[in-house]
Amino acid sequence: MSRGITILGATGSVGQSTLDLIGRAPDDWHVHAVTANTDAVALAAIARACNAELAVVGDHGAYQDLKAALSGSGIAVASGKAALVEAAERPADIVMSAIVGAAGLAPTLAAVRRGAVIALANKESLVCAGDIVTAAARQSGARLLPVDSEHNAIYQIFDHDHPERVARVILTASGGPFRKASVEAMRAATPGQACNHPVWSMGAKISVDSATMMNKGLELIEAHHLFPVSADQLGVIVHPQSVVHSFVEYIDGSVLAQLGTPDMRTPIAYTLAHPERMATPCKRLNLAEIGKLEFEEPDLERFPALGLAWDALRTGGAMPTALNAANEVAVAAFLAGEIGFLDIAALVRDVLDALDGGGHHVPHRPHRAGLDDHGRPRLVPLQRAAPRDRRARRVH
Ligand code: NAD
Ligand code: MG
Repeated sequence: MSRGITILGATGSVGQSTLDLIGRAPDDWHVHAVTANTDAVALAAIARACNAELAVVGDHGAYQDLKAALSGSGIAVASGKAALVEAAERPADIVMSAIVGAAGLAPTLAAVRRGAVIALANKESLVCAGDIVTAAARQSGARLLPVDSEHNAIYQIFDHDHPERVARVILTASGGPFRKASVEAMRAATPGQACNHPVWSMGAKISVDSATMMNKGLELIEAHHLFPVSADQLGVIVHPQSVVHSFVEYIDGSVLAQLGTPDMRTPIAYTLAHPERMATPCKRLNLAEIGKLEFEEPDLERFPALGLAWDALRTGGAMPTALNAANEVAVAAFLAGEIGFLDIAALVRDVLDALDGGGHHVPHRPHRAGLDDHGRPRLVPLQRAAPRDRRARRVH
């Protein structure tokens, strides 16, 4: 029997990887709806190739092109935000939530409310409305399966039945294209350089987020909503090879990790096949070939966006929503050539300062030596001080 799927953001990087996988076993899948924002031609080609029932563009301006491109196909067409929500409301078993940004929230929430299985790539919906999305999932019985490679890794190694056995969750970060760049080089960075990720090939927005490391900050907030872990239990470690996708440390000191070549089709396949597994054409991991896996502390001085996200997570309330909104606007402005690369974090900081009276800054290195209070080596830095300590230590 085939499974029903709707793909929100079908023309994007995650959308394309999803289509690649289901296209390898077309008889296993029935496509209810595919959506895009403006690219009617690409969406029409996708809709025809996967024999979708419905194709939706978010932008009304693209409606006529979509209608023309699909005339005679029998595929229904629609446009606008309400139509995106209607696409998500179609009775597909699983909804791939792969729209970028807060624009993904309304359709994702619609799918959550009807109790669908959600393959969740759209991290921004959890960052800006995590409490609402997870409460709706609890009420409807919707299952949130993380697509983000780190959260997918954690999902696979987390003891869901005994969360009290988990001491810490450590997200790995590639470090992005500016891992070794000077502040001066980052000041002059162009959108082309920022989007040139050393490991992953992704959409423009998440590529810039990776370059500022705001992506890892958004992922901390995402992890907090997906797993029962507090801000204090979350850590970040830079791992340029992106082979270890994250760690879960247990109270007995055992550390579990999930590994694989950096190919989004692996975590996507996990969500599509759950609770089973499906084969993928992804390159197999050959550790002898890679030879060396490196790990280093994140540099919160050069990547202040990560610290700002820590602040927002600890403060809670409207802060993560404001952080996400400010970041989306700033990244769009950077991509449009209106502001510089370093202005992204500065703008986000100004918005958070305006909301809570100030005090957001780039912190000192978050831990002292490499040993914890018990003299044991630390895998990752301790987290930042609690928000109320933040102002006392502010350095402006
Ligand atoms: P992308 O830019 O390649 O694709 C985005 C998709 O969303 C496109 O189909 C686009 O048409 C659609 N879209 C954009 N704005 C829209 C709007 N206002 N209304 C409706 N549709 C809109 O992005 P991506 O890299 O595929 O990322 C998608 C999501 O997955 C993001 O939230 C990202 O953080 C997350 N994610 C991506 C990757 C990756 O490897 N690309 C990895 C982890 C998480
Ligand atoms: Mg990720």
